[in-house]
Amino acid sequence: MLAKTDFDLLSLLEQLIIPDWGDLIGLLPLALVFGLIGPVLSLLALAWVHHRLTRRRGKVRIMDLEPVPASTDASGEILVGPNVPFCPRHALIYPPQATECHLDHEELMVRCPVDETLRIARQQVCRACGTKYVLGASQSPVTVRRTGRPPQGGAAVA
Ligand SMILES: [Zn+2]
Ligand SMILES: [Zn+2]
Repeated sequence: MLAKTDFDLLSLLEQLIIPDWGDLIGLLPLALVFGLIGPVLSLLALAWVHHRLTRRRGKVRIMDLEPVPASTDASGEILVGPNVPFCPRHALIYPPQATECHLDHEELMVRCPVDETLRIARQQVCRACGTKYVLGASQSPVTVRRTGRPPQGGAAVA
């Protein structure tokens, strides 16, 4: 009964308790499966997590210049936030650097964040309120650190 069934749990336990080289070698493939696949899988998982974490901040992400379809409301008007270039004809939302539609090379429109007037994306000043802004400028984050203010109590040291 317990003769040569390698995958039988009972014989497997027996072999663990009383090591026998012949049987241990027979167990090697099984040990390889559990001893190798397990760490490899967890390593893969770790590498994946690491990749996910470093991709965000480490590398410079290449801006995908592909437009995305805009959602429209019941009356068919394109729902788009301010400072987002979009093509009103094709209902496509473009990345901030884009100025013209890739389908017909028509000027993209953008909504003013102040008074919601539509203007041409290439145009940097709102004709209605005069607000000037450069699209895509916020893409390059600038860290502003406040220096010059001495730490509390530190100013007294002379
Ligand atoms: Zn278009
Ligand atoms: Zn405006």
